[in-house]
Parts: sequence; structure tokens; C-alpha cells
Amino acid sequence: MAYMPKDAPIYVAGHGGLVGSAIVRELERLGYTKVLTRSRAELDLQDAEAVLRFFQETKPQFVVLAAAKVGGILANNTYPADFIHDNLKIQNSVIEACYATDVDRLLFLGSSCIYPKMAPQPMPESCLLTGPLEPTNRAYALAKIAGIEMCWSYNRQFGTKYLAAMPTNLYGPNDNFDLKNSHVLPALIRKTAQAIKDGAEAVEVWGSGTPKRELLYSDDLAEACVYLLNLPEDEYAKLLREDTPPLINIGTGEDVTIRELAETVARVLGFKGVLRFDPSKPDGTPRKLMDVSLIRSLGWKHSVELEEGIRRTWEAVRGELAG
Ligand code: GDP
Repeated sequence: MAYMPKDAPIYVAGHGGLVGSAIVRELERLGYTKVLTRSRAELDLQDAEAVLRFFQETKPQFVVLAAAKVGGILANNTYPADFIHDNLKIQNSVIEACYATDVDRLLFLGSSCIYPKMAPQPMPESCLLTGPLEPTNRAYALAKIAGIEMCWSYNRQFGTKYLAAMPTNLYGPNDNFDLKNSHVLPALIRKTAQAIKDGAEAVEVWGSGTPKRELLYSDDLAEACVYLLNLPEDEYAKLLREDTPPLINIGTGEDVTIRELAETVARVLGFKGVLRFDPSKPDGTPRKLMDVSLIRSLGWKHSVELEEGIRRTWEAVRGELAG
């Protein structure tokens, strides 16, 4: 039996983004009738008073915090002040409003970059705060770590039921395909599409091609999020222990090198040229593979494999990118 009633008001913060849009689709697919969303123009999530008013008026019972300032390695490295400032403000106002209006379950989303740069691979939830962070996204990571700590602190002090879910690198149709700010997969799809269009012989790939990344399709993440929110009371309670942060990894447990990723994109799009690596761009962390044994033990596993996910993403955006 699903924990969330079908007519429960569920607020998805960040419904326009890659993650939020997939979660809204999943909730609607499952027959949830009161999914609340607000555009950025309607509600500025950095404005704590406005957020509190919105919560008081709409009384969400469940909240997914998928709104964040996010970006790829270059954006994180270039605008660290924006990444720490905006994310702290957004999460503070939403978590505070959840507490003030007695929200039942909150799912706070972060990312795998919260774990130390040299964390054991795969990375279990228990390696949080055991070593220095990767410098290229330290500001973002610290904001997210503060969010996890805040969920935990509220749970301990006030008995709330806030859970922090850390997805691995995500991709899917509503991604940001902007070349400077995006993550690697949408960037590779865009560059490869452009190379085909131009009849170019090479696609430029940043860095050495040797770092490894784990990638999860956005619909799989959405399924996992709703699965967690719907866990029976006793199983959910086990994730909210006094002695460890309320933290759970969401990933596939498999990773590929950036070179393999670029080759897979080339195969799916039908690009016959070569890859040209640009070592002047940062590699970032060498590897960040999630240990997914906790979520697997709860009965969830991803279903969309990488090549299939890239195919689906490409089908959704080719009209726009192939031009
Ligand atoms: P990260 O996972 O936080 O490091 O962020 P990204 O997804 O932006 O980058 C992952 C890896 O892909 C890094 O090693 C990048 O250097 C590499 N990469 C290769 N080509 C690109 C590209 O065109 N854009 C981006 N963002 N990364 C690329």
C-alpha cells in the first residue's frame, strides 16, 4: 500500500527542471491529483516569507525539494558564490516552511558530489564528511551538505521526517543543453548533433576522457523518489536514525569513462567521426560511483540502461538540436 494518499497535496519545488519535471510526470502517471507547482515568476524560493505564505495557503502534506542552482563543472567552477548562496537560501526557506506548516515527509535532493573527492568506490552514505571535497564543486556540495545536516537536525530536535536523497549524475529530456553550463551528457549530445549537421570530422571532449561517471535517467530517479516517499512507515523510519544523517544514495551502481560515454553518444546519434580531447579543460573528480546497496535493500533498482536512456533523450530533443 502506498503511503501517500492519491489526493494528498504534494508540492514539487523545481518542477521545470530535469528532476522536478520527471517527478511531476511520475506522480501524475500514478494518479496523484493534487500536485502543486509554482513557476519561478510566481514564487521566488529564495524569498522565505513568500515561501512560507505559499505553504500556509496550500498546505502541502508532502514536499520534494528539486529546486536548486545546478550546473556542470565549468559553471560550478566559475560561479561558486551563486552556487552556495542561492542553494542555501532556497533550501533554508523551503525546509523552514515545511517545519512551520507540519509537512509530513520532505524529500531533499542533492547530488553525489557531496562525498569526498577520494572517497572509497563505490561510495556508501557513511563516507559523508570523511575527507576533502572536489574543489570544482565545493561550494555547491557544501550547500547540499548543510541541507542534509538541516534535515537531520530538524528530525532530531523536532521529530520531523525529512529524508535527503543523493542522486548520481542525471540526464534526460528536460536537461540543460547549453554548452558552457551543462553537464557532460547533454553537452556531448549537442556537440555531436552539431558535428553531424556541419559534416565536421571531430567532436571536442573536455579533459582526458578517463574520469568515470555514473549516469541515471531522470525517469528512473523520479520513480525512486516517489518510491521513497511511499515507503511504509516502519521502513521509512529506519532511514531516519538518530546516529546517522537521513541520507540515501540513488544511482545505478555502474559507471563508464567519459570516452566510453562520448562513443555511446556517437553510436546512438550516428556520428562517424573522431573524438578530440581538450586537456586544457578540467577533469574534475576521477570517479564518483554510488554504493546503491541501501536503496536496493528497500526493493528499488533502476530500469533504463545508459544506451536506451541516451536514445530516449535524443528522440526527445533531436527536433530542436538536429535543426
Ligand atoms: P562533474 O560530474 O561535476 O565533474 O560535471 P560534468 O558533468 O560537467 O563533467 C564530467 C566530466 O565530463 C568532466 O571530466 C568533464 O571534463 C568531462 N567533459 C567532457 N566533455 C564535456 C563537455 O562538453 N561538457 C562538460 N560539462 N563536461 C565535459
